[in-house]
Amino acid sequence: MSTPLVWKTPEEVRAWVASQRGKRIALVPTMGFLHDGHLTLMREGGRRAELVTASIFVNPTQFGPKEDLSRYPRDPEGDLKRCASAGVVGVYMPEPSSVYPSGYQTYVNVEEVSQGLDGDKRPGHFRGVATVVTKLLALFRPDVALFGEKDWQQLQVITRLNADLELGVEIVGMPTIRESDGLAMSSRNSYLSADERKRALGLSRGLFAAQKLAAGGEKDVSKLLAAIRAELAAVNAREDYVEICDASSLKTLSTLSPGQRARGLVAAFMGSTRLIDNLAIELG
Ligand code: AMP
Repeated sequence: MSTPLVWKTPEEVRAWVASQRGKRIALVPTMGFLHDGHLTLMREGGRRAELVTASIFVNPTQFGPKEDLSRYPRDPEGDLKRCASAGVVGVYMPEPSSVYPSGYQTYVNVEEVSQGLDGDKRPGHFRGVATVVTKLLALFRPDVALFGEKDWQQLQVITRLNADLELGVEIVGMPTIRESDGLAMSSRNSYLSADERKRALGLSRGLFAAQKLAAGGEKDVSKLLAAIRAELAAVNAREDYVEICDASSLKTLSTLSPGQRARGLVAAFMGSTRLIDNLAIELG
């Protein structure tokens, strides 16, 4: 378990990548404050490539003006240890002024799949995500890049931009890692008080309830939404959105049909903390 290399500039990354010619490289982009969800992506990267790299960058362009950019949790020292334990050989930790130097003016906009859900609730969010991920994929030119299903809409945006811009990276989506009681792991869970942490279970409970109803033959989406909302109400969570969508186009559904891949997606506030979660919904 050796300490990973730390790269601060794109030149350092480019020089390292050039020196590894011929080796398969995996990249795991993150915003740090790493947990088992992130480490699962890194370990899977190690199964799919010879060298696993990661980035830790709290990307300012994906935060709205009233969001948590300035207080987003950070632990660079601990993160490097966690990266080492997951077999990561190098971590890119650039400064915002290096990623977006003065005069910067190029952004990537993925049109349709960035709309609705977090795209509507967090204007500009996916433009920031798509821009930084495109820059990372162009810089590392990895064979494979791994992302979590936890951020389902983000995964669809990245899959789309990789195809549309012909970047040729294998984009791998990994299942959401949950705490033993079902809460999706998230760096933002660290904002929760003990009471909020307990109540946060309403999101996953609602999604599992809807999944079970669908598996039992319920095709009326309004009934599935009601089941999710009942769990949110039971824990006094404030809904930001609750939707059942086609899993890849993210178009809203009103009825489930047999064989259709659908996804239940929730965003809700526990106090001032905004949490998201999602789950596969399939008609049984
Ligand atoms: P973040 O640091 O929150 O930007 O996340 C970095 C990557 O880790 C993204 O691809 C996320 O979808 C993924 N990720 C975050 N939480 C989880 C989780 N609980 N399970 C699996 N992947 C996750």
